[in-house]
Amino acid sequence: MSITHLGIPVDANTEFETVIGLEVHVQLSTESKVFSPARSRLEEGKSVADEAVNANTNPVCAGHPGTLPALNAKAVEYAIKAGLATNCKINLKSVFARKHYFYPDLPKGYQISQFDLPLCQHGHLDIELGKEGEVTKRVGITRIHMEEDAGKNVHLSGFSLVNLNRAGVPLIEVVSEPDMRTPEEAGAYLRKLYSIVTCLGVCDGNLQEGNFRCDANVSIRPKGATGFGTRAEIKNVNSFRFVEKAIEYEVERQRQVILSGDKVVQETRLYDSQKNQTFSMRSKEEAEDYRYFPDPDLPPLVIEQSQVDALRAALPELPDQKRDRYVKDFGLSRYDAGVLTSVSSLSRFFEDAVSGAGAALAKGLANLLTGEAARLINEAGIEIGASKFIPGHFSDLARFVSDKTISVTAAKQIIGILFAEGGAVGAIIDREGLKQVSDLSALEPVIDQILAANPKQLEEFRSGKEKLLGFFVGQAMKATQGKANPGLLQELVIKKLKG
Ligand code: ADP
Ligand code: MG
Repeated sequence: MSITHLGIPVDANTEFETVIGLEVHVQLSTESKVFSPARSRLEEGKSVADEAVNANTNPVCAGHPGTLPALNAKAVEYAIKAGLATNCKINLKSVFARKHYFYPDLPKGYQISQFDLPLCQHGHLDIELGKEGEVTKRVGITRIHMEEDAGKNVHLSGFSLVNLNRAGVPLIEVVSEPDMRTPEEAGAYLRKLYSIVTCLGVCDGNLQEGNFRCDANVSIRPKGATGFGTRAEIKNVNSFRFVEKAIEYEVERQRQVILSGDKVVQETRLYDSQKNQTFSMRSKEEAEDYRYFPDPDLPPLVIEQSQVDALRAALPELPDQKRDRYVKDFGLSRYDAGVLTSVSSLSRFFEDAVSGAGAALAKGLANLLTGEAARLINEAGIEIGASKFIPGHFSDLARFVSDKTISVTAAKQIIGILFAEGGAVGAIIDREGLKQVSDLSALEPVIDQILAANPKQLEEFRSGKEKLLGFFVGQAMKATQGKANPGLLQELVIKKLKG
């Protein structure tokens, strides 16, 4: 009997299409928790590991009887901003609901979330695809709702401990439509959403601390099928690259399940980045299993339209707008402008460097930043703000490259030194002897010497073998140990050869 999937016969030659919908939990960067005054945000420069266990808790986080939740207005404001920046409709009335589950790290026995009536709905964002980001695709956002985070279970040998510091930290969950078709599209969506919430300042964006984490829903279907296959949900991946890899693995796993005649089961899976595999964690609950109902402790959240309008009017320039401005004002490529605006600390850094160097040098600056500097930063897995780079370094470099004091190659070398040890650009140029020789009186004798040492080639050149120009320029460059200003050197060689 032949194997079918969604009613369509399939075999090893069938082309499958991947369907991906993402649920992203974004931690809001409010000072206090969503339903209580306990401290929520880490102190400047501190990591979760620096926090004393259960120090940032109170009876509300611990679910003591008689306590009541009180909604944090700042968290609502942040959630609305995220909704507006992702083109959502803001519901003037939304409702908090209890989602029941056995959560050892959430002692109330339910999570406060939103269900039937979320705060934001029907949004979208645009992602750029293709090698140069030349293709734009729109991904729908089904809803954004507010909820509280759970605490953390710490499993030791033979017993477990619970740390409630994170219990009650405000989250928004951004749920996409199943609109993505490749791991790259999922990665581009996540990067765009990340750039938006960090640009808004509603999320600190610390991926290691789980400020931005993703559940990826993945199914496959024979190309051309209209329905969706059964999905698996890969939980809590907090790196863009790992989400892409987890989806890749999952697609192949499902293909094999289907081709072997089995059915993909709806379940929750975990991704192990070391093994690059997903593992079954539990069968997936249905909404009914959670026994959602409106939380009687919290009245419906009612917002005035005027409040929404004020928040909309106060939105900062968003990454897409910033990218378009860089293209228009600085003549950058859409791709480079996209890279520079993908992380707000990078676009701020770029703009500071441009204000030091002048807009005329913006393109040169962009090349230095998106090239060598971005490579070093990405390799180290840090943000530019945490590196030894300062905007002034790049203003100086762009100026020195533009006035031909140094070559682009030397600039790259200097970027490497600045990244490793910091310092001043001028001093590094002197110390490393990287200044280009643009002094005619220094270059002329070098060229004369080379012409004199190669009479045969000179003869050939003069009788029409013009491609020997490269030979002479190369010899001259070598004689100056690569320090000659290349444009000037070539000009001078031509003059002498013809002379
Ligand atoms: P739940 O809340 O139980 O996880 P939802 O129906 O709200 O379920 O869907 C969650 C996510 O799964 C959404 O991002 C949605 O786009 C995505 N999704 C739904 N069906 C599929 C499918 N068949 N394949 C891939 N993704 C899907
Ligand atoms: Mg889900």
